[in-house]
Amino acid sequence: MENLFATDKLNDLLPRIKAFVETELYPLETVENLTKPFSKIEKVLNKKRELVKAAGLWGLQHHLTLVEFGQVSEVLAMTPLGHYVFNCQAPDIGNMELMEKHATDQLKHDWLVSLMKGETRSCFAMTEPGFAGSNPINLGTTAVKEGNYYVINGRKWFTTAADGAHFCIVMAITDPDAPPHKRASQILVSTDTEGFKVERNISIMGESGDGWLSHSEVTFTNCCVPLTNLIGTEGAGFQLAQERLGPGRIHHCMRWIGIAERAFDIMCRRAISRDMGDGQRLAEKQFVMGWIAESRAEIDAARLMVLSTAKMIDEEGAAAARNRISSIKFFTAKIMLDVVDRAIQTCGAAGLTDEFLLSFWYRHERAARIYDGADEVHKIALAKSILKKYA
Ligand SMILES: Cc1cc2nc3c(=O)[nH]c(=O)nc-3n(C[C@H](O)[C@H](O)[C@H](O)COP(=O)(O)OP(=O)(O)OC[C@H]3O[C@@H](n4cnc5c(N)ncnc54)[C@H](O)[C@@H]3O)c2cc1C
Repeated sequence: MENLFATDKLNDLLPRIKAFVETELYPLETVENLTKPFSKIEKVLNKKRELVKAAGLWGLQHHLTLVEFGQVSEVLAMTPLGHYVFNCQAPDIGNMELMEKHATDQLKHDWLVSLMKGETRSCFAMTEPGFAGSNPINLGTTAVKEGNYYVINGRKWFTTAADGAHFCIVMAITDPDAPPHKRASQILVSTDTEGFKVERNISIMGESGDGWLSHSEVTFTNCCVPLTNLIGTEGAGFQLAQERLGPGRIHHCMRWIGIAERAFDIMCRRAISRDMGDGQRLAEKQFVMGWIAESRAEIDAARLMVLSTAKMIDEEGAAAARNRISSIKFFTAKIMLDVVDRAIQTCGAAGLTDEFLLSFWYRHERAARIYDGADEVHKIALAKSILKKYA
């Protein structure tokens, strides 16, 4: 299919990135590597990071438009290891973007530079076990000013990659009397601050994980950080969170399209090679042909939707693209999960083994329909906006 979103930069970059991913990262996708805790493969991946730097492919997100980076993200997502090796993994990429725009020069110097070099990791703590994350104005975590410090107290969970992170950006209520959307602020907390604790890595689908590939429950107990650790202005927490989510959803969606493409490739290879013992290959069965055709159409449709949304954000800003961002979030998550599921079904029992990558994505990516706005939240927002015009 012709790439309507090609640019000269991408014509140079994409083949090089694809070659890197296939030669350096695909061989690392062994059962052993993908089933053991992340910390066990981190060293090997960090060596690959040096190769990325040497190839001049480091930190691409800082030099590309959203449309361009989206297409890079798709290629990186063909392997579960791609984003980490290129240092554009969530939640670090979101924190980098946030800090580039809104952190003070001092915070950038102290925290952002090392993050961009890949020497440190970070996390973002907003969701709390006691409050519905879908309505994020309800937060229990507070940051109270005392002298030159904020004293932070609260409990968060599903803080991705908190285990081993050097700093955390926490969303906390700084003014409980302000209008609901002006109550919270984002504050940087060094994870070695007294009172910050990773309580546990939450076991998800049988796996607690560790390091970057984990989601933790974290507590803040009289955790004192300087007032100068505020990101942006006081009360701007929700506005910054919204800003972070616009481009963030393009990143997620293009990553899901990469996953869907690889799952599609696995499905087709299996279908064509599996002899059914009745004189036919699996690929000749019409059920499977239907899955292949539907998957192809859905992936292509999703890619066009996501890239045209990215273009709109590049040209007009995230606010103008709000409806489209909602559409791509629930649509792309669904088609990615459908394709992964069809690929598993096509591979039969083998598809459930850890030898086919599919089970990795089945476990790790079901969350796509929940985080960054659950399906229902986006659908309601989109429908409300459409119906306004009919009211
Ligand atoms: C793998 C993973 C990683 C995450 N990483 C982070 C992170 O790094 N930092 C962080 O702060 N948070 C993170 N989260 C949390 C995520 O942002 C929240 O789970 C999400 O906002 C939903 O909040 P909740 O889980 O409290 O669900 P709830 O708000 O309790 O909602 C439950 C369900 O209700 C339904 N629902 C919600 N609203 C409506 C509605 N209006 N109408 C109908 N149905 C509705 C949806 O189906 C939703 O799934 C992560 C979550 C996962 C699964």
